Amino acid sequence: MAEITLPEVELNIYGPKNPVEVPVVENYIITKESSPNFVRHITFDVSGTELEGRIKVGQSIGILPPGKDERGRPHKLRLYSVSSPNSGENGKPNLVSTTVKRTIEEFEDKLYIGVASNYLADLKPGEKVKITGPSGKRFLLPEKAKEFNYLFFATGTGIAPFRGMIMELFAKGDYQNECSLIFGCPYRTDLLYSDYLEKMAQEHSNFHYIKSISRENRRKDGSKHYVQTKIEDEEELLLPILKKDNTLIYICGLKGMEAGIYKELLRLGLGGYLDIRKNLPEDLNEIPRNDIKKFMKPSARTFEEVY
Ligand SMILES: Cc1cc2nc3c(=O)[nH]c(=O)nc-3n(C[C@H](O)[C@H](O)[C@H](O)COP(=O)(O)OP(=O)(O)OC[C@H]3O[C@@H](n4cnc5c(N)ncnc54)[C@H](O)[C@@H]3O)c2cc1C
Repeated sequence: MAEITLPEVELNIYGPKNPVEVPVVENYIITKESSPNFVRHITFDVSGTELEGRIKVGQSIGILPPGKDERGRPHKLRLYSVSSPNSGENGKPNLVSTTVKRTIEEFEDKLYIGVASNYLADLKPGEKVKITGPSGKRFLLPEKAKEFNYLFFATGTGIAPFRGMIMELFAKGDYQNECSLIFGCPYRTDLLYSDYLEKMAQEHSNFHYIKSISRENRRKDGSKHYVQTKIEDEEELLLPILKKDNTLIYICGLKGMEAGIYKELLRLGLGGYLDIRKNLPEDLNEIPRNDIKKFMKPSARTFEEVY
């Protein structure tokens, strides 16, 4: 099997104590008009800063929102995954993009508007933002990335790093292995970057764009679609790829999504993607979602960033 060596990456060139101010160059909505969710594609110009050309796809940048929290302390940094490839947005190393969902919560009759995500979503081109980073040294494409097959699982803004990774793999037209993306969302209006992904699937027979829409229809047996159920639904395509020893799995998005994927991998006899830590119950469904890491963790072939 091809050796999985992760590239050396730069970390925290700018930290919370010495952030760098950069302007926004574009900020547009990517969820469809009728979606109750608002997700935006935002690009920053890092020209003339130490970040230019030094952020790798899979890493995140930190955002320091202005203002203070309810205790009067400056707001803490929030992380956002980079969604542009290593070469930068549109091939420009000075342009770095991310994908931001406005977070809004109603709790005990009070509305809470997420501080950083709504600050970012409201920014206009030309306005400046304090950023830090890059951060993250594990959720990366390996060196010799083109020697591997990939199965990417994304929910929500978990798509961000995969947009950049897909651009990275296919940019030069010499990627010969198989790359599949399973994107999960409740309704079709929440599909993100789908025009780009559909186009990639049309243009590249080795890129497979699989949508898992949970609330619009059911599977043949009446059960709901989840990202993990797509392995079975698309088994003719995915099982032979998953059985190859140069295949890697990446999971990004909502915390908890990994539990269903782990259980499905075990059910299908694909335990090589996991390190089992303790005796498993016969019925895997007995393992509560929040306890899954007590029983198993990702192996060297599985990469995960959930939040
Ligand atoms: C490695 C990593 C990568 C990430 N990548 C991305 C990404 O690419 N895109 C992205 O959109 N996000 C990403 N995130 C999440 C992001 O960092 C933020 O956590 C997210 O945007 C929410 O931040 P916020 O400041 O808007 O909300 P916060 O102000 O931090 O609030 C969080 C949530 O709690 C609610 N809330 C606040 N106070 C209360 C209260 N008292 N009672 C009840 N509810 C309350 C808010 O409405 C909000 O929904 C990532 C996180 C990590 C760790």
